[in-house]
Amino acid sequence: MNLILFGPPGAGKGTQATRLKETHGLAHLSTGDMLRAAVAAGTPLGKEAGAIMAAGKLVSDELICGVVAERIEEPDCAGGFILDGFPRTVAQAEALDALLAAKGKRIDAVVEIKVDEAALVARIEGRSKETGGARADDNVETLKKRLDVYRAQTAPILPFYEAKGVLHTVDGMGSIDEVTAAIEGVLAETV
Ligand code: AMP
Repeated sequence: MNLILFGPPGAGKGTQATRLKETHGLAHLSTGDMLRAAVAAGTPLGKEAGAIMAAGKLVSDELICGVVAERIEEPDCAGGFILDGFPRTVAQAEALDALLAAKGKRIDAVVEIKVDEAALVARIEGRSKETGGARADDNVETLKKRLDVYRAQTAPILPFYEAKGVLHTVDGMGSIDEVTAAIEGVLAETV
C-alpha cells in the first residue's frame, strides 16, 4: 500500500504517518525530515535547501524529486510507503506518477487532513515553545508564508488525485486518536 498524507503545515501528517508506519509496516518518507537531516549533516543538498526552508519556501522540484526517486529505491519501500510532505506541487505529483508507473507501482490513496488555519497557527505556536524553536521554520510569521505557499502551490494538486479517484478527506480537528481512526476508516474501505 502506497499512501500520501496531504495537508498544510501543522496538520499532523508526521504524527499520523508515524502511527501508520507502525500499524501497517510501511516506510515513512518525510521530505522535510530528509532535508533537515541533510542540513544538519552539511551535505551539498542541505546547503542548498537550508535557507529556502528557513524562509518557508519550497526547494526546487528537480532537487526534491531526485531525493524521493532515490529514497523509493531503498528496500524498506518495497512493502509500501507513506509520503509525508511530498508531492507539494503539481509538477512533483506528475513526476511521482511517472516514477511509480515506470516501476509498475501507484498511489493507492491520498488522505487529505483538513484543518482550519487559526488552529494551525495555535499549534505551531505550541510546537515552537515545546521544542524551544528547534525548527527554524516553526514560527508564526514563517507559518503564514508556508500557508500561502500551500494554498498557491500545493492545494492545486488535489484535483489531480481527485481525477484519479484516490483522494479522501478526513477531519483533522479532532484528537490524534480520532484522526488516526478516521484515516484507518478510509484505508479499510478503499485499499
Ligand atoms: P515539512 O517538514 O514537510 O513541513 O517541510 C519543511 C520544509 O522543507 C518546507 O517548508 C520546504 O521548505 C521543504 N520541503 C519539504 N518537502 C518539500 C517538497 N516536497 N518540495 C519542496 N520543498 C519541500
